[in-house]
Amino acid sequence: MGADCLFCKIIAGEIPATIKYEDSHLVVFDDIDPQAPYHFLIVPKKHIDTTLDLVAEDNELIGHVYQVAGKLALDMGFAEEGFRVINNCKEAGGQTVWHIHFHLLGGRDMNWPPG
Ligand code: 5GP
Ligand code: ZN
Repeated sequence: MGADCLFCKIIAGEIPATIKYEDSHLVVFDDIDPQAPYHFLIVPKKHIDTTLDLVAEDNELIGHVYQVAGKLALDMGFAEEGFRVINNCKEAGGQTVWHIHFHLLGGRDMNWPPG
């Protein structure tokens, strides 16, 4: 667990969140400030600060993130229209919580380029 890490505290159940899915590797919960009708955070239970801190042993974990993203989009009924999975890395990438996570956004048309 990262010291004073918000997402580690959510994973540990110390801070409440609306959990949508959980397995031994990941937890998925509603973003507190949703930017689309569906906005979930897919969060590995392993504390990894940023995308730059991934190592080879995490490859299966990141593949699993995308498997779960697609499965949730199907289960929630917004897969057919399309959706977006986003990882923000460090300050210029818009990262505000330094525990790696993937935004799953759906339920509306997305803009490109992103802001
Ligand atoms: P980032 O900006 O690091 O890519 O994404 C962090 C996300 O975490 C933001 O979209 C923000 O709304 C969300 N967030 C921040 N604090 C909390 C919280 O306490 N609970 C939940 N569920 N989401 C949070
Ligand atoms: Zn953490």
